[in-house]
Amino acid sequence: MSNKINHSMSLAKPDALDITTKQKVALAIGITGLFILTLALLNTNFPNKALFLTLSLGFIIIGTVIYSREAYLTKLEGIKNDGQWFKSISSRGVWGWILGLVLTSFYIVLYFYPKYLGLRQGVDGGNTGLISLFDPLSQLLSGRNASQWFVYGTLYTLAILAFGYKFILKYRHNRYQQIRTVSVMFFQLGFAFLIPEFMYVMNNDLPYYDLKSIWPLNYYLFDEWSVNAFLSNGNIGLALLVFGILSIFVITPILTYKFGKRFYCSWVCGCGGLAETAGDSFRHLSSKKISAWKLERWLVHSVLVFSVVMTTAMVYTYLGYDKNDFWLTRDVFISFIIGFLTLVFVSVMYFKRQELGKDARAGAIGFFITIVLLLILHFTGTTEHVFYIKSGALRSAYGIYIGSIFSGVIGTGFYPILGNRAWCRFGCPMAAILGFQQRLFSKFRITTNGGQCISCGNCSNSCEMGIDVRHYAQKGENIVRSSCVGCGICSAVCPRGVLKLENDSMKGRINPTEILLGNDVNLMDLVNQK
Ligand code: SF4
Ligand code: SF4
Repeated sequence: MSNKINHSMSLAKPDALDITTKQKVALAIGITGLFILTLALLNTNFPNKALFLTLSLGFIIIGTVIYSREAYLTKLEGIKNDGQWFKSISSRGVWGWILGLVLTSFYIVLYFYPKYLGLRQGVDGGNTGLISLFDPLSQLLSGRNASQWFVYGTLYTLAILAFGYKFILKYRHNRYQQIRTVSVMFFQLGFAFLIPEFMYVMNNDLPYYDLKSIWPLNYYLFDEWSVNAFLSNGNIGLALLVFGILSIFVITPILTYKFGKRFYCSWVCGCGGLAETAGDSFRHLSSKKISAWKLERWLVHSVLVFSVVMTTAMVYTYLGYDKNDFWLTRDVFISFIIGFLTLVFVSVMYFKRQELGKDARAGAIGFFITIVLLLILHFTGTTEHVFYIKSGALRSAYGIYIGSIFSGVIGTGFYPILGNRAWCRFGCPMAAILGFQQRLFSKFRITTNGGQCISCGNCSNSCEMGIDVRHYAQKGENIVRSSCVGCGICSAVCPRGVLKLENDSMKGRINPTEILLGNDVNLMDLVNQK
């Protein structure tokens, strides 16, 4: 054993944090792949871009695969969270901050300064730098040059596939985790990456459409240019638009009712896919403080209100007043939105008042603020202006602050600092809607066999949404939380098999249990009462 200060409490092998020679070689291979991308970023003119792109992406994949196999296949299958609070990169150490800085810088350049990635910087208007390295792949898939979004999409998909493989090895003792990870890999590769490229080949007038990205996550679905593009592309365009609307009002409510929001957040969504795979090493960094929980509730629901009002305002500006021109006038539209929200609010208050508990007040405040904003919009809005500002400015503000800075720069760039689900937890309006339904109208819950719990805290430590799972387990109480994305990691890392993700009848699903302290009650009386 070396003389260096070792903070590990492991009795068996205190130096277990070291990586093997094989892992060092794997790291070197992966870094070589990243180095080729860096050279391209610095405008190195590779003689054969297709070859160097293949080498770069190939090295990254091979490095990750070798590293992961050495890390997990050389050990028995089972819980593998050893050392996560002692490694610099996964415990907000120097390497964690450096990685966070690199990721946030990348997102800032991607969203706001794509010219530094080489977007259309050539003399002939073609790409240079990093983006030009991806031209051959883009040409192969859709016959056009790459954009910064194609580069991002490719690296995003690569990260989910490579780290998805690592994740499958790490959690190979748990079938749920394996199938779930194959699912997010499939949806990212097929639905988010390949299908939109092929759709472009078939009909290049159609707007980019990731079929699994649902409003309000896909916040530009109802923009005027998007709706016009769908409507001007015949049946296929109309079908896609109808699918987008059905996804909001029919498909997601049914699936959330049956399976909880996990069907989307942990099995389908691209943000969740990246968080679960590439972000897995940072899941324990989510704050479990009550202050974080309070902030989460206010922030995520404020974004939802912003999103609803912004989308309504966008659609409102391009509708007319005369029902002879088109049946959906501004009056009809705003009445429909207010009517729908009121119906949901009144139904919840009537049927679910008990389950809401203290949250009813916050819900009522949110509802009234939304309605007031919609009424102000209706009585002051014009074709050009909403809330006395240019209509496009509201949409741009949402796109910049929520769509880019919150979801990308902070949400992903801060993985090594805030944990892997900062966006899903604090900012995603889709997660807020699904969470609302999961809490009140879903069969999903995590059951706890409290008698078996040894209070080790593995579950709370691993919960990426900051839920103190152990608190529920100790009381034997079901976990029915809006924020739970049903990733199942709490269950996968529980050494006692206490936690189980289940879909069952809604009756008795929420079963708060008082904590019994010392002499607070006579236990025999309690048992006899039950
Ligand atoms: S409670 Fe469990 S299943 Fe839910 S988000 Fe946390 S770790 Fe995932
Ligand atoms: S539920 Fe399992 S993982 Fe959580 S504290 Fe209890 S024994 Fe540990």
